[in-house]
Amino acid sequence: MDSTVTYKCPNCDAGLIFDPEKGKFVCEFCISDFTEDDLRERGAFDRTEESDREQAEFSEHIKEYCCPSCGAEVIADENTIAGTCFYCHNPIVLSDKVSGNLKPSKIIPFAFDKEEAKARFLRFAKKKKFVPKSYAAPENAENISGVYYPFWVTDADAEADFDARGTKVRTWRMGNYRYTETSHYNIMRSGDIHFEDITTSAISEEDKAMLEGILPYPSDVHRDFSMPYLQGFVAKKRNIEREALSGEVRERMHGYASSLLRETVHGYATVTDEQTGIRISKSHWEYTLMPVWILNYKHKGKNYTYAMNGHTGKVYGELPISFPKLGILFGSLLSAVALICTLIGYFLM
Ligand SMILES: [Zn+2]
Ligand SMILES: [Zn+2]
Repeated sequence: MDSTVTYKCPNCDAGLIFDPEKGKFVCEFCISDFTEDDLRERGAFDRTEESDREQAEFSEHIKEYCCPSCGAEVIADENTIAGTCFYCHNPIVLSDKVSGNLKPSKIIPFAFDKEEAKARFLRFAKKKKFVPKSYAAPENAENISGVYYPFWVTDADAEADFDARGTKVRTWRMGNYRYTETSHYNIMRSGDIHFEDITTSAISEEDKAMLEGILPYPSDVHRDFSMPYLQGFVAKKRNIEREALSGEVRERMHGYASSLLRETVHGYATVTDEQTGIRISKSHWEYTLMPVWILNYKHKGKNYTYAMNGHTGKVYGELPISFPKLGILFGSLLSAVALICTLIGYFLM
């Protein structure tokens, strides 16, 4: 699938996309465009021979699976037999071919093993009231799986400018008159900003809430990817390319830059017409796998996901509620209230 030549931006190293209207390759990250000749001249190929060789080696030892029941797509090391789906626990099947340039450049390894993950889940589940009995059972904990989730991690250098209009107001009284003097200012700020570890999920919406719940990962635990880290685990297959994220990451950098520079503006009565501009001069993108312990529980036709950051242990949990248990409690509360009323009634009589 991904055997066509791709280019990276000669200015900032982000991925380029082709704009048919302009007939040029555009970088949505640093806002520039290039003809194909420009790119060839500047040697802006996305892949070097070395990375092609590494990619081929990776594809050779990696198998791709999909789940016919829930559609989950995972990859696993050839020595790891991925028998059942980590999500819905149904059998999964081998896809006919591995597609795409999927070799990660970085990975955060799991910091604790399945036994520890099970124990942590059980401690969590046993503290929760109103969950079905089978939720906090050891057989359920057995289903917890270690899954690497795909992310794009961006570092970048940028120059940012902030412009605004400000006013300062002075009032005083003289005789019967009150004077007001309003001074108008053009406010300007600029600075160089280095952004580090802007982390963006490389899979579509469905897992967003879960991933937001377990982030962040510390930034000093990223290692260069190597195959042994994958052994015994599956990795969720990435379905968002970095080119598709340029706009979103740029927006986030713009937002950070804007609030950083805005914070340096003090002492005005009003600040209006705020504008921030950002020029990205350098960027670096790493396709990174990050560890998640995940357990999906089905209750009355609905899925409940428990997920735990495989490095920090931070938990995200959607809890299945068992209505019969709640019913019993409400029931006994009601009868206690009724009993008290009867007693009061009794005493009043
Ligand atoms: Zn660029
Ligand atoms: Zn499945």
